[in-house]
Amino acid sequence: MNSLDFIELEKKYGANNYKPLDVVIEKGNGIYVYDVEGKKYIDCLSAYSAVNQGHCHPKIMRAMVEQANKITLTSRAFRNNVLPLYYEKLAKLTGFEMVLPMNTGAEAVETAIKTARKWGYQKKGVETAEIIVCSENFHGRTTTIISFSTDESAKKDFGPYTEGFKIAKYGDINSMKELITKNTVAILLEPIQGEAGVKIPPVGYLKDIRKLCDENNILMILDEIQTGFGRCGKLFAFEYENIRPDVVTVGKALSGGFYPVSAVLSSKDILGVFKPGEHGSTFGGSPMAASIAMAALDVIVDENLAENSKNMGEYLLGELRKIENNKIKEVRGRGLLIAMELNEPARKYCEKLFKDYGILVKETHENTIRIAPPLIIKKDEVDIIIEGFKAVFKEE
Ligand SMILES: *Cc1c(COP(=O)(O)O)cnc(C)c1O
Repeated sequence: MNSLDFIELEKKYGANNYKPLDVVIEKGNGIYVYDVEGKKYIDCLSAYSAVNQGHCHPKIMRAMVEQANKITLTSRAFRNNVLPLYYEKLAKLTGFEMVLPMNTGAEAVETAIKTARKWGYQKKGVETAEIIVCSENFHGRTTTIISFSTDESAKKDFGPYTEGFKIAKYGDINSMKELITKNTVAILLEPIQGEAGVKIPPVGYLKDIRKLCDENNILMILDEIQTGFGRCGKLFAFEYENIRPDVVTVGKALSGGFYPVSAVLSSKDILGVFKPGEHGSTFGGSPMAASIAMAALDVIVDENLAENSKNMGEYLLGELRKIENNKIKEVRGRGLLIAMELNEPARKYCEKLFKDYGILVKETHENTIRIAPPLIIKKDEVDIIIEGFKAVFKEE
């Protein structure tokens, strides 16, 4: 079977909820992926930052295979001997006291919402919990989460919607202040909005929110599912403003792409609101997930991925900004989370980059190209990306 056969088969039987580039990937290794015809590409999306460690990292693979040979799933009805070690590793690395393990990012966000609501009723004493979120947010695809999306296509015809959310303008602290009431239990946002097209809020924004939360006894919840684990040049994007949120959601690179692993990180006081039976997940915290996540975290630390992301990101951003073409509106980014916003649809450029230059990128919101290679990338490999972009924008 060749690429076209696979594409046809997929179109015949698969629901049509994605619009992938027509590249059929068969294998991956580090920053590279290979299609079924054997053509090699640099992956500049990293599965939306789930493979920060690179594809099929041997250390994570070993952990996965070794664990699969022992036991994969016990359910939380029983204890297992990996979960406690994983808890400790994740807590110590991130500086949070407690971990609640889930699987997908959306589940971690759902869990954070439930945490904030319960905390609101039990500790703050609110009547009806309200949570403030931001315009252009992306926190996942569940019914509750899309209830507070401002993206029409994510939301339309999926109602009735979950109540209890108010939407502030991202980056505008005053619009947030105005929404606070005595029932506000949390503010939930991304420190940098990845899906919205790598939107970076003004300097001091997170600090202002921290202050607002402290003054009003509100939980600050940061969704670092995409920005965390080195993607933006530090372990967490919030470190750029020297603040600490009360609650953080993590996922994606927490497993290096081997398995869906997510978590909510917080304090004992806050995550302590859960009692047995009040929340859970069959697969969350399985020995398999825990083993994989431990290895994935080790790789991030041992290979200095945050630092490499910072250095390579600065270099790539600087070089991309040097490309002169009036179709380019702006190039922005932090670490290796970079976006090139155009004055016209970006799809054409993505197609060219992958067909002619072996660079896999994907447009987000029509006009923006997100550039986010695995964090293990080296300078000479960054140069290949730069050359590809230069060439494509020279042709146009
Ligand atoms: C990807 C993402 C999610 C959702 O994660 P899933 O694993 O797809 O459910 C939530 N928040 C942010 C910021 C994300 O980038």
